[in-house]
Amino acid sequence: MRYFVLKVHSRCDLACDHCYVYEHADQSWRTRPRTIALETVRAAGKRIAEHAATHALPGVQVILHGGEPLLLGADRLDAVLAELRAAIAPVVRLDLRMQTNAVLLSPAICDVLLRHGVRVGVSLDGDRSANDRHRRFASGASSHPQVLRGLALLRQPAYRQLYAGILCTVDVAGDPVAVYEALLAEAPPRVDFLLPHATWDQPPPRPAGSPTPYADWLGRIHDRWTDGGRPMPIRLFDALSSTVAYATGGTEAVGLAPADVVVIETDGAWEQADSLKTAYDGAPATGFDVFSHSVDDVAGHAGVAARQNGLAGVCATCRACPVVRRCGGGLFAHRYRSGSGFDNPSVYCADLKALIARIDESPVDVSPAGPGAIADGSDRNPMSDRLLDEIGSGYGDAAAIARLVESQVLITRVLLSMVGETEAASPAWELLEHVDAEAPEAVAEVLAHPYARTWAVRYLEEGEHRDTDRRHLACVAAAAAVRAGLSVELALPVRDGLAHLPTLGAFAVASRAAKTAELSVSGGEFELRTGAEWWPTRWLDAEGERVPIDDTDAYRDCHEWPVAGRLTPAAVDSWQGLLSAAWQGIHRDAPAHSPAVRAAFRALVPLVPDPGGRLRSATNRDAFGAVAVAEPADGDALALLLVHEVQHVKLGAVLDRYDLVDSEHRELLPVPWRPIKRPAEAVLQGAYAHLAVADVWRARSRGSDAAAEHYHRYLGWVTGALGALHGTGALTADGERFTHRMRETVEKWRDDHR
Ligand code: SF4
Ligand code: SF4
Repeated sequence: MRYFVLKVHSRCDLACDHCYVYEHADQSWRTRPRTIALETVRAAGKRIAEHAATHALPGVQVILHGGEPLLLGADRLDAVLAELRAAIAPVVRLDLRMQTNAVLLSPAICDVLLRHGVRVGVSLDGDRSANDRHRRFASGASSHPQVLRGLALLRQPAYRQLYAGILCTVDVAGDPVAVYEALLAEAPPRVDFLLPHATWDQPPPRPAGSPTPYADWLGRIHDRWTDGGRPMPIRLFDALSSTVAYATGGTEAVGLAPADVVVIETDGAWEQADSLKTAYDGAPATGFDVFSHSVDDVAGHAGVAARQNGLAGVCATCRACPVVRRCGGGLFAHRYRSGSGFDNPSVYCADLKALIARIDESPVDVSPAGPGAIADGSDRNPMSDRLLDEIGSGYGDAAAIARLVESQVLITRVLLSMVGETEAASPAWELLEHVDAEAPEAVAEVLAHPYARTWAVRYLEEGEHRDTDRRHLACVAAAAAVRAGLSVELALPVRDGLAHLPTLGAFAVASRAAKTAELSVSGGEFELRTGAEWWPTRWLDAEGERVPIDDTDAYRDCHEWPVAGRLTPAAVDSWQGLLSAAWQGIHRDAPAHSPAVRAAFRALVPLVPDPGGRLRSATNRDAFGAVAVAEPADGDALALLLVHEVQHVKLGAVLDRYDLVDSEHRELLPVPWRPIKRPAEAVLQGAYAHLAVADVWRARSRGSDAAAEHYHRYLGWVTGALGALHGTGALTADGERFTHRMRETVEKWRDDHR
């Protein structure tokens, strides 16, 4: 459990008619204390810290919630936050958040939030008419002007860093475009749309005329958002666009990721997700409280555990559904029906299916190619051109990266099938085929790991480790079997004292001389017959995405620098702190690169530091999304390295799809950043990576001469390399198109500078 919703006030200054706290089946708010006591906060904080320490969590998030948390007032809020910090921050990285209606947001409150580093999500349902349809005071008066005033405060430079985003509840009676434009006008860093809570017993309103009004409504917003160049992330769309296991989207509303959120009420009661209040009176209750029960007790509660089971936790209809990995059966509460409980598809099933189909149909980029675009006159697929243009611009939105991800998964599967041509008779291959038939998503999750392809390539190249590489197939099959919840026994190879389960972790085998270890898997549990210590994969929180910190995988050592060994918990914490700081830097200095980093950065591989203290980072074309990096001094340095390396990740995936460089071209070309000439593809790689680095320094150069110097140096390298590529016959028509977009981007910067 890493997300803790802390109810600090059980009443609200608004009386929204769609509120699940007061207006839905569960009415437990009536018996709760209005305000949380400080001793309850202290007890909750201790429980959270204890849980974080026990499970070596890299960080926890505590979200202040209500009712309306701002009813606490500035002083009381300060005291609550101080209690939480005192209990949790010495033990684990603490990410504090608040969800509020913003009516009472004031400079005094913002100062308190600033002091404690609390990021604020605001509930707003769109334009005034949409908002006033539900979000009113008990008198019936509009709350819209007050909420807009609160949002304006959050946009002020002094408080901007507090602003986390807007949460909008869907109402299909409103105009979706007007809602979207109203949200956009508030310049939110992020938006999420919430389907109104409903069950099969209490279905959502469905105006006559369409079987899927919610998909239609959200689909129109999706179109508008895409047409406008996706100016901010929209969590629901990004989560449904995710095509591989690691891009879980960070939301309970969709997807198969285990729910790792619990609620603490004002009386200290542990509760399940708030949305369950919509199912029946008492549905979220666990019977546990922070004074007598640990987080592990709550995690063991049947209702909480049921939301942790991934594919095994959804109904048979959902398990057979082709989009189950993206939809995940919808929000748990929306599956409820009297009699069958939660063993049903979502009451929004038809809408979710239709919305996913609509997202899939959406073009990658509908912006015009612009004057001077390369026209080759062929019958090319326009989608290909748009993808090249989108990535060629030097950036790339989430949808474009998702298409690259899809193609990478496909490549790995093709390579795996080539492995199968020689391994078809082996027990490991048979197991893998069996898992693929029973639970294809489990195999897909393992194959989405960056080093699955590295291994397959090594195997097919018949490298020096051929025997070890061959036996690694058992590790891949075993990891898939664990994820699928199957029961099986098989022998794993031991390499350098480790028996690997890719994506899950590794066993440190007691006997260093052991070559093989017997693994027993049953219903998602697994153990080695011989003595071994289990080293689980640890996960970093990268802006709501879970990114593994890969310090065990057998194939991660494929970069030009040596990889670090198993990290201590303190080192993992240090990486988490750096990554959080890096994300702040990316938002500040490279916001246009954030969708690509979010989607394409899929594993962090620690490197051994450079003895001279220089920065070290690398990627490998056969390990899509893995960024290998030695721990830099601060978040700003890591931000630069991530943005730089994700450029290589993107371009590598583009080069897997398109021939940008003429394979017949042999001439080496001069580059401005090295004294020796380089092959054309390396020149293109360098130019593309330096373009992003120049962009970061461009942002930092406002007010800094040193940064301006860096900007001009990198810009010079980009233009120099592009100049070297042109007129030499090194580029194909696609390569010309791609670099044309790169040139457009740097020309635009120059125009901005003039
Ligand atoms: S502001 Fe939130 S808690 Fe308050 S009534 Fe509205 S939905 Fe409920
Ligand atoms: S679309 Fe429907 S059947 Fe498919 S996973 Fe979602 S709720 Fe289940």
